[in-house]
Amino acid sequence: MRSIEVKKYKDILEKKKEGLMASAPARTPPTEPGSKSGDWIDQSSQENDVHVRLALKQTDAKLLRAIDEAIHRIEQGTYGICMECENEIAPARLDAVPWTRVCIDCKAKQQG
Ligand SMILES: [Zn+2]
Repeated sequence: MRSIEVKKYKDILEKKKEGLMASAPARTPPTEPGSKSGDWIDQSSQENDVHVRLALKQTDAKLLRAIDEAIHRIEQGTYGICMECENEIAPARLDAVPWTRVCIDCKAKQQG
């Protein structure tokens, strides 16, 4: 992979990581009184909010770790290489999931 492409993915990964870190203290999106953004949220969704936030936190933690690992692989010069078959991961897949460890074929195998 060319270094300019690696840098592109590193930027994407670091921005994503920053975004996750910024939202780490779980909280609901800011809703100002009378603002339209809060109008459609009904009571039932607020009751479920705590469970949703817990689920999000776990997902975020996994994602953060995957992003850290991807940044580590960029530093090691192994980014974009499938950890299963050691083939190059398709750029389209990296664009969609820049923190992925495996190519689409190996991912499909993992899922059965
Ligand atoms: Zn593979």
